[in-house]
Amino acid sequence: ISPLPTSKIVLVTGASSGIGEATARHLAAAGHHVVLGARRIERLARIIGELTEAGYSAEYAELDVTDIDSVRGFAEAALTRHGRIDVLVNNAGVMPLASFTDLRVDEWNQMIDVNLRGTLHGIAAVLPSMRERRSGQIINIASTSAYRVDPTAAVYCATKYAVRALTEGLRQENTDVRVTLISPGFTRSELADQGGDEQARSVAKNAMDAFGLPASAVAEAIGHAVAQPASVDVSEIVVRPTPQG
Ligand code: NDP
Repeated sequence: ISPLPTSKIVLVTGASSGIGEATARHLAAAGHHVVLGARRIERLARIIGELTEAGYSAEYAELDVTDIDSVRGFAEAALTRHGRIDVLVNNAGVMPLASFTDLRVDEWNQMIDVNLRGTLHGIAAVLPSMRERRSGQIINIASTSAYRVDPTAAVYCATKYAVRALTEGLRQENTDVRVTLISPGFTRSELADQGGDEQARSVAKNAMDAFGLPASAVAEAIGHAVAQPASVDVSEIVVRPTPQG
């Protein structure tokens, strides 16, 4: 097995806030070149400004993970510039919480499009070059919601169970490419700021504020998986706040 270079080319989706931003910062500080993608490019530009100012190697591009052409363009640009993609962190996600009785069909579809299709789009965009090089790592961000279902979160949980399932299948079929599932519990971020039912949103927001992990704790778990040698695949990490039941 050929050793991976110490400094890796790492793509992070949903890097404009929360866990994605913290991951990009953590991996840049670890010496990797990070490519940040999201829709809010003004946020990305600000983060890149801070990272490059600090002497780290980073760039950004506009990305909508629901659009396969956008995801392919994001990956192909990185491949053209750097000749390889070592790590993809499939992190972009949304969580508009509401009861079934609300019939928020558009938000169900949005969760399927971002959390599930977006993850598959990322895999489609990087897997061919990784398989060709017989090297690389795909890290999918699921959730503790990939292991248990709670009221108002059924569709969100369904997308995360699905991400967990496809990650396991991807791992089984790829013996050169490392495949990692990271499942955070409540983490302080902007995830519960938008969409869904007001009351359900505030319950999640209160839990995040009361005992949520800092996003940096999840970034460190991701960093641990990235840091292992090519022959070591950290298949799964669940990281939750100690008070979370
Ligand atoms: P944030 O809302 O802070 O971050 C979500 C990120 O996803 C943003 O950068 C957003 O960027 C991006 N995003 C949303 N839609 C799209 C899209 N269509 N295309 C590209 N990027 C998109 O939440 P978190 O950091 O908490 O969430 C990150 C991941 O962690 C998600 O997958 C979430 O499900 C998961 N998670 C979070 C937990 C928590 O408690 N916070 C617990 C378990 C898992 P932009 O809007 O600029 O496009």
